[in-house]
Amino acid sequence: MKIYNSLTRKIEEFKPINEGKVSMYTCGPTVYHFAHIGNLRSYICEDVLEKLLRFSGYDVKRVMNITDVGHLSSDADTGEDKMLKGAKRENKTVMEIAKFYTDAFFSDCDKLNIKTPDVVEPATNCIPEFINMIEGLLEKGYAYKAGENVYFDTSKLKEYYVFGNQNEEELMVGVRDDVEEDTNKRNKNDFVLWFTKSKFEDQALKWDSPWGVGYPGWHIECSCISMKHLGETLDLHCGGIDNMFPHHTNEIAQSESYLGHKWCNYWFHVHHLNDETGKMSKSKGEFLTVPLLESKGYDPLVYRLFVLQSHYRKPLTFSYATLDQVAATYKKLKNRIAAIDFSGDVNDALVKEWHDKFEEAVGNDLNTAMGLTLLYDCLKSDLNGATKRKVIEDYDRVLSLDLLKEGDAAEADDELTAYVETKIAERAEAKKAKDFAKADAIREELASKGVIIKDTREGTVWSRA
Ligand code: AMP
Ligand code: ZN
Repeated sequence: MKIYNSLTRKIEEFKPINEGKVSMYTCGPTVYHFAHIGNLRSYICEDVLEKLLRFSGYDVKRVMNITDVGHLSSDADTGEDKMLKGAKRENKTVMEIAKFYTDAFFSDCDKLNIKTPDVVEPATNCIPEFINMIEGLLEKGYAYKAGENVYFDTSKLKEYYVFGNQNEEELMVGVRDDVEEDTNKRNKNDFVLWFTKSKFEDQALKWDSPWGVGYPGWHIECSCISMKHLGETLDLHCGGIDNMFPHHTNEIAQSESYLGHKWCNYWFHVHHLNDETGKMSKSKGEFLTVPLLESKGYDPLVYRLFVLQSHYRKPLTFSYATLDQVAATYKKLKNRIAAIDFSGDVNDALVKEWHDKFEEAVGNDLNTAMGLTLLYDCLKSDLNGATKRKVIEDYDRVLSLDLLKEGDAAEADDELTAYVETKIAERAEAKKAKDFAKADAIREELASKGVIIKDTREGTVWSRA
């Protein structure tokens, strides 16, 4: 399997530290609001990556955090706490907000067939671990106290911009919202490990610590939660491209300083979903969520297919017009599969051959579009029905488009009935006009779709083979 590694800026052969086993970490949602479908693009691509690894025979352990404390309005540690903002907006407590939006997130994931990671850990569960790591960083001289906060000292590092490509413009993107000067910082990139003093006195959740009552910074949680469940080395770390700086840069800085060795080998970043005016965000334009798409009549899996059609390292622009096209494609695809006659004996050798083709094609830097092409190739192929079914089932372990799900069979049946009836009428016309070649061609076309027709005294009747 080959994957683009943001750390080396190259497509590399994926080699986990322990043969056959993969440790994978994903930055989870900040649960102050619904996830928009841009956030969910990242989670869909990460889900495909995890499933492809399993498809390729790896034993994967995947961990994800839930950010329920410490993520300020700006990624540069300034502004109000996002959770507190959410609580004020809805007149609820921070914990109520966290619970509500965590549930909403997993409900969206369910609808998009995104598997829940093996371990999901809210940041507020790990305060002792954060304190422990911050103490270690202070002892080793990588952190300092100033203005009653604890900061990471980026000047102590040999290399801070590990992803290499940070220019001033990208730094601006990285820190996103309004950037305020924090005069406690010794260097402009230093970041908060522990706050006891924030401009916002009413920070709701606070814990006792050696530095006073306060709360953790955002970056520390991912380093700690990853180490807690996956140990001191990590194969693969994922997130949206905007997390590259400062979040992932800071995760690497503190983790490697704390551990004294390299921490994570492969960094996987999903590019943004844009709307027609630019990067999708929660504060701009129509707030596109899965429930909104559903209320407009879209099956959430249509959005999953929309994402799979493009490459994760390219920006993707959302529009309803494109989504409509994908909805039509999805419907046709499902109907086409529903019309297959799945009889016959499974040819295991052929199933394996098609499995390997998919593993190689999609395993080339997560080329999901090639995976879809192979699916269509399989439908077109002369594999017998039973073998086809096995291949579709196998591919759907990664694509997760419910390709064989019966739920929509009634609708698919309606479509099939309409199609067969049109064909039977056409054939009757052909026979009337003594065009027997055409009539026979129609009979054969129907047979190839698993539909058998019989002429009776009452007219032509049909059944599935
Ligand atoms: P957040 O809940 O803001 O912490 O973001 C959750 C995930 O969504 C992170 O991995 C972000 O990098 C990612 N993300 C944010 N905006 C977008 C977008 N427009 N398109 C794709 N991914 C995004
Ligand atoms: Zn993270």
